[in-house]
Amino acid sequence: MEIDHLGLAVRDLAAVLPSWERISGSAASPPEEVPSQKVRVAFLEVGETHLEFLEPTDPTSPVARFLAARGEGMHHVAFRVPNVDQKLAELARQGTRLIDSASRPGARGRRVGFAHPSAFAGTLVEFVERVP
Ligand code: ZN
Repeated sequence: MEIDHLGLAVRDLAAVLPSWERISGSAASPPEEVPSQKVRVAFLEVGETHLEFLEPTDPTSPVARFLAARGEGMHHVAFRVPNVDQKLAELARQGTRLIDSASRPGARGRRVGFAHPSAFAGTLVEFVERVP
């Protein structure tokens, strides 16, 4: 599997993106709202992968809860897979604790699904499928 992107939780996209754009030498994508996760996200291309910056749009957003508990910083690791539903089913059969039992719409028109952080030493793991 390849890493599709790394997700970073932030309180304010506009406040943090300039410094990341300077060190990466590329411009962030225009912010996009992802209603299924109550976040606004922007992506920064870094070589073959991306950094995803997530800003909560609602206090009940999982990212808002993450910020309250842990503060800003690394939020999840996302792996690119051919089929998210297949991957989630495979993990469920192996007894891996999941957040999603089926894929849902993610940013950039992708299908996504999450495994529970308790299954991966406290790190939230996302699976991403590029929909043609
Ligand atoms: Zn992500």
